[in-house]
Order: sequence, then structure tokens, then C-alpha cells
Amino acid sequence: VHRMLLLVDMDGVLADFTQGVLDLMVVHHPEIAPLPYEAHTKFEVQDNYPEDLRASIRHLCEQPGFFKALKPMVGAIEGMRWLVAAGHDVRICTAPLKQWQHCVAEKYAWVAEHLGEEFVRKMILTRDKSLVSGAILIDDRPNPAEHGAQEPPWLHFLYDQPYNRHVNARRVTWESMMREGMFPTIDMRK
Ligand SMILES: [Mg+2]
Repeated sequence: VHRMLLLVDMDGVLADFTQGVLDLMVVHHPEIAPLPYEAHTKFEVQDNYPEDLRASIRHLCEQPGFFKALKPMVGAIEGMRWLVAAGHDVRICTAPLKQWQHCVAEKYAWVAEHLGEEFVRKMILTRDKSLVSGAILIDDRPNPAEHGAQEPPWLHFLYDQPYNRHVNARRVTWESMMREGMFPTIDMRK
């Protein structure tokens, strides 16, 4: 395996954003029956809920403490260490919320806590990932280069989530990457 520059998204790939919302819904909207994780079939988390709740759910994600409290995705911490051990140059590439006031600092704090200070220095925060150099971007967003300023230099590997199953893509999970080797489906011509 040759050394590659890998960009790894944060929400929905490293940090379990959906579960974080589910945990808050129980507290703030006990009147709503909990929606199973697998029933979150829309990318924007609030779009999985009735329209009159959406602004409130969005607001929950903007509160202090939301990002800091997110749990790592299953296999994510181990998977990051495994990519580094395989010799790759691994960077975290994440888009902050438009309401960035708590999100930005807490993303740094999250990485420091779960991956260590050395990874904090490898964080790239941008709302346009098409501008970031790299061989591969691992991201749960169906089309992470949409509305970008340029054709992205990277290949997209879609991190599997219930809300992106309709997309035909090179699909991975931490479990699949570690089980099958790096990126078994890689075809640089695509
Ligand atoms: Mg994401």
C-alpha cells in the first residue's frame, strides 16, 4: 500500500452526530417516540422529524456542549490509528455549522480528547472541501463536493449511514476498511 493523503470527515464518520441528537431528543422532546437510528433516512438530521420540530432540533445542535459530548463512531478511534499505522498521512476535514460559536472550539476539544493533540494539528475546518488537497475523502455526505468552488482533487469514499443508502458510491465503514484492507474497491480511473 502506497502512502496516501487521506481526509476524514468528522460528523457521521468519527463522531456519532445522529446518536447525539437522539440522546437530546429524549430529554427535550419526550413527547416524541424515539426514532430508531436506522430510520434517519434524510441527511439533515432535523428533516427526519415533523416540520414543527425542525427548528428546535437544529437549535439543540447549536447549544454549548453538543459537539463535545458526541460519542465516537464504532471503530473510529481504532480505525484512525490503524490508518496512521499503515503509513498514511491522515487529516481530519470537517465543516463547522453555520452557527459556529460552540461547534468550532468543541470540534477541536473532541479531537484532543479522543484522538490526542497530535491530531488537533491535523484538522482542517472548511465549508468547501473541494478546495482541500488529498487522495481520498471519507465522508458520509452523499455529494461532499456539491456547491464547491472547483472539481475536487480527491476520490470520495462514502461512509455508510442510513441516510445515504440510496447513493451508488464506493461505500465503507471502519469495520469494512479494517476487515477488507484499506480500500479494496479503489479504482483511480473513476
Ligand atoms: Mg459528515
